[in-house]
Amino acid sequence: MQIETVITGTTRVYGIIGFPVAHSLSPVMQNAAMQSADIDGVYVPFAVPPSQLSVAVAGLRSLQLCGFNVTIPHKIAIMPFLDELTPGAVLAGAVNTVANQNGRLIGYNTDGDGLIISLQSDLDCTLSGLRVVLIGAGGAARGALAALCRAHVQSVAVINRTRVIAETLIDSFSSEFPGVALHAYAFEGYDTKLLSCVDLVVNATSLGMSGEKIEGLPLAHLPGHAKVYDMVYNPPVTPLQAEAQRLGLKVANGLGMLVAQGEQAFSLWHGVPSGAGVMRAALEPYLTR
Ligand code: NAP
Repeated sequence: MQIETVITGTTRVYGIIGFPVAHSLSPVMQNAAMQSADIDGVYVPFAVPPSQLSVAVAGLRSLQLCGFNVTIPHKIAIMPFLDELTPGAVLAGAVNTVANQNGRLIGYNTDGDGLIISLQSDLDCTLSGLRVVLIGAGGAARGALAALCRAHVQSVAVINRTRVIAETLIDSFSSEFPGVALHAYAFEGYDTKLLSCVDLVVNATSLGMSGEKIEGLPLAHLPGHAKVYDMVYNPPVTPLQAEAQRLGLKVANGLGMLVAQGEQAFSLWHGVPSGAGVMRAALEPYLTR
């Protein structure tokens, strides 16, 4: 969609901070949705090196940006610079959306909700009672674990390259969610038989973005009803997804999560939902290049 925003003295400014940020598709989604809703606003990318984060947040505050998204590597580091964090952001330990409410910067995490919405709509998942394997233990995995626990899954086995990072993640959630069985493993040395009792696999690593396979995850051990969700959405089919498809498993990529977290941010900033399908449609040309 061609953006034809006319910028005037009353145009409200939104944006995204990250480093790098050039790859982000959020400007495409958010500008298309504002234009479709006839909102006088513009959304721009800001490349902020880690050493400049506090200065940049002070600048965004003084320039009275109405809201902004936060992406790698600032999702955790930004938290001390905000005025308030929602309980969901505290639990996830990360912020991906900031709203400026009368000069106060409020930090939200819409990634977890985005994942849940996408699991429900793209994979027909009823999360309560599910046995989940979560691959990865970084920022995205943390948000995913918080959201999955809140959705009352039965168990989550976190499998990560670095076991101690997975253990730290599990430790911080165990007391908060005593009703969910949480376990941490490294790829090396875990008993792959555990996969035979799994309903859902979620990839929350960056593996697949450059065509990498996830070594140490033999999908053939999964039961036939298991579903596979890959947070990676570009390329639209990763080796993980291709293997799951080959085995006849139900699969979705992370596009639905990207769109859902963006739609949540839009609602927070503008007080109205974005037009149905507008963000997803705006992304199409950018995913097939
Ligand atoms: P992150 O904090 O840097 O975490 C990266 C994770 O990937 C860690 O668990 C890391 O393991 C693992 N990893 C990295 N390289 C690896 C390798 N070569 N072999 C094995 N494991 C490796 O990143 P993040 O913010 O969590 O993001 C993770 C992915 O989720 C990215 O692809 C991001 O684009 C995607 N994401 C998608 C959405 C969406 O809307 N679809 C939203 C958020 C994130 P170690 O702990 O051992 O380092």
